[in-house]
Amino acid sequence: MSEASPGVDPASYLQRLLDGGVLIATGVDGVYGRSAAFEDVVERLDALITRAGRNDGAEVLRFPPAITQRDFEMSGYLHSFPHLAGTVHSFCGDERAHREILRCVGEGEDWTAGQKIAGLVLTPAACYPVYPVMAKRGGLPGQGRLVDVYSYCFRREPSLDPTRLQLFRMREYVRLGTPEQCLEFRETWLERGQALIASLGLPLEIDVANDPFFGRAGEIMAENQRRQKLKFELLIPVADPARPTACLSFNYHSDHFGQVWDIRTPDGALGHTACVGFGMERITLALFKHHGLDPAAWPEAVRAALWSRDRTPAA
Ligand code: 5GP
Ligand code: ZN
Repeated sequence: MSEASPGVDPASYLQRLLDGGVLIATGVDGVYGRSAAFEDVVERLDALITRAGRNDGAEVLRFPPAITQRDFEMSGYLHSFPHLAGTVHSFCGDERAHREILRCVGEGEDWTAGQKIAGLVLTPAACYPVYPVMAKRGGLPGQGRLVDVYSYCFRREPSLDPTRLQLFRMREYVRLGTPEQCLEFRETWLERGQALIASLGLPLEIDVANDPFFGRAGEIMAENQRRQKLKFELLIPVADPARPTACLSFNYHSDHFGQVWDIRTPDGALGHTACVGFGMERITLALFKHHGLDPAAWPEAVRAALWSRDRTPAA
């Protein structure tokens, strides 16, 4: 998506990570295995995010990395990002069709033509399963709702930039309530997110977001997103120092999901929603970039922030 600035090749950081055994190649760009050291940092980061939000009383929910086809269609994702979605298909044929598949594979032909949608779409953002589940509970209570989710997400964006993965994890807090409750939530996390990243010794800046909306209608959506300041991002220089990478995002969806799922506040108004998303691989890759490939040699303050003894579980 983004062009590298002259003289800097994001793929060179990828090569360093592969050479250092931090990431493991699979043969598909943007899909990598992770080393024990990498996973340890992801886990500590997860715990740090839990600590940052632990007094808020979020409800912890975990979903597998796919949502129903219907929930996906309802969400509106196809309007904005049809090019990023990944659908799950599987074999539903008879024995003759099975023989045909094996023949195609054997002869190097396309064997996938008969695959049928399995009623599932890979989760594009961790918060997507939350809204239909909350809608099924009925109206929002006066204090609204706050949910903590964590999921692998899929976006079809093959790239040699290691910060642009096709399968990556997103930890999110999701707020549902009045516009005031949602905007206050976003303000709080804008502050907390900056403090958290600063505590890891990483340089950061905040900017309005520039999402890759699809097509000409997408240009209008992108302009609208910027003008209404619906989304901010916390950017850290990672693979290309001149083009910092969005590692956290702070989204205000207004009443979009409220309308889609008919989620209402106690006074009958449409519910608003907001979410803060932490890109777990991106933050981890930023740490490896700035502090080196060996976490044991990271600055003491960074190690203390991540491997602190405070392992109090979420409230
Ligand atoms: P958003 O829904 O705002 O696009 O994504 C939320 C967060 O997920 C981003 O701030 C970023 O940290 C992470 N993210 C988005 N796209 C990618 C990607 O292609 N690769 C990785 N590793 N993380 C991503
Ligand atoms: Zn979200």
